[in-house]
Amino acid sequence: MLERNLGYWTERAATLRPEGRAFIAGEFVNAVSAATYENRNPATGAVINLVASCDQLDVDAAVVAARTSFESGVWSRITPTERKKTLLKLAELIERDSEDLALLESLDMGKPVSVAFGYELPELVEYVRWFSEAIDKLYDEVAPAGEGNLALIRREPIGVVGAVVPWNFPLDMAIWKTIPALAAGNSVVLKPAEQSPLTALKLAELVKEAGIPDGVFNVVPGFGSAVGRPMGLHMDIDCIAFTGSTEVGKMFLGYSASSNMKLVWLECGGKSPNIVFADTENLDAAAEAAAKVFYNQGEICSSPTRLLVERSIKDVFVTKVVAHAAAYRPRDPLHPESMMGAMVDGNHANRVMEFIEAGKKQARLLLGGNRLTINGSENFIEPTIFDEVQNDHVIARDEIFGPVLAIIAFDTEEEAVRIANDTVYGLMASVFTSNLSRAHRVSNALKAGTVAVNAVDMISPLVPFGGVKQSGNGRDNSLHAFEKYTSLKTTWIKY
Ligand code: NAD
Repeated sequence: MLERNLGYWTERAATLRPEGRAFIAGEFVNAVSAATYENRNPATGAVINLVASCDQLDVDAAVVAARTSFESGVWSRITPTERKKTLLKLAELIERDSEDLALLESLDMGKPVSVAFGYELPELVEYVRWFSEAIDKLYDEVAPAGEGNLALIRREPIGVVGAVVPWNFPLDMAIWKTIPALAAGNSVVLKPAEQSPLTALKLAELVKEAGIPDGVFNVVPGFGSAVGRPMGLHMDIDCIAFTGSTEVGKMFLGYSASSNMKLVWLECGGKSPNIVFADTENLDAAAEAAAKVFYNQGEICSSPTRLLVERSIKDVFVTKVVAHAAAYRPRDPLHPESMMGAMVDGNHANRVMEFIEAGKKQARLLLGGNRLTINGSENFIEPTIFDEVQNDHVIARDEIFGPVLAIIAFDTEEEAVRIANDTVYGLMASVFTSNLSRAHRVSNALKAGTVAVNAVDMISPLVPFGGVKQSGNGRDNSLHAFEKYTSLKTTWIKY
């Protein structure tokens, strides 16, 4: 049997020749300016490849390609069933190249390769299949307009969709945004984060092989101000689907207001509460779930970063969480047993360490708190737990986006809900309890796009994902994702 051990992944990594050029109108091309930047592996500091450092001119070319393909109808006006067949082929190709995709993701942003290969890629393949299958099962509406009138309400593709995504789940976010948009018949311009362009470019190769027509899918790598900004301000992009920080999300609202009023769908930051009541039936399972805050190096927008524990069980429960955190010891991301890799880059590791230092001044450090050097790279940070945190402490207010858990004690249900909702964010929340009435009561009271009961971070193509408040406005996943990428058209016929 094939053993995917450290040697196996290391050898494969050495043979990969990742694409670094932009993908526009069906071809890989250099930036018009010919500029490139060095793309580094955060787990070793080594340069992986040179990537096109695109700007306004490349964005313009990609938008022209997208608009031309959209207006030609080569994708937008074929039947949904035909689009389904092509996207199902793409799912097959993603499955075929799962190893390469997982490895590129790991090298690019530091996550453990076996997590990417074993969990994330299979889920993504299913995700693409789910949206491919959905598109020819959606029916439009006929309004009850009365005799002599036929009022049709149809969903049409919007046109050119700009997708701007972050580095924490580069391929997931690229797929979450672009596959429903493509399924609905749009043409797409995708901007990966500058830290993690490789899987988006590999996806472009597979899109071409699957037979999606040239110009329908374009990838423009580069920096936020050079590529994201011109996309936000572009007069011929109809909709922006953004995942990233709240700060940059707000910029996109501004870009839209000062250009063509394009739709702006935002999936932004989070500071998710996880409330554990003393009546929880299985405290061990709850503690194991709470420790998932360290998954993906803690670089997850919906991570349960504020752990609210009922005071009467706090000490017992916290001991269990600390025990489960041991599973997330940072290791070489290519080691098959690694559950925690490197932070995405040195700047981000510095930022996370600043939060940890701030935490040490305000709360009680219970676990970790140190930066580690592995394979010569200083981008590794231990799982870190702070106890005796107050909700107004910096580490309870700001999104750290690293392996840091803040524990806050509470005495009553009302207090727990008040603390949980005392944040500018509203992406995800969790409640652990064996009391059914309390589960419903608290779920209803929590201001979040998703509330998980006796679980954390429940995400699936079956249900909408997104936030309220400053966590954003759009919903990825489920049939509701199509609402972002289609507009309603009424055709009223008198007869
Ligand atoms: P970021 O906001 O810095 O960058 C996101 C994207 O925006 C990148 O492609 C970046 O190049 C681009 N960008 C940066 N500055 C820009 C500008 N001035 N104009 C236009 N585009 C610009 O976010 P990040 O650091 O890549 O990712 C981390 C953030 O993403 C966290 O805040 C996290 O919560 C958020 N996130 C949210 C979700 C969600 O679904 N809610 C999922 C994953 C990550």
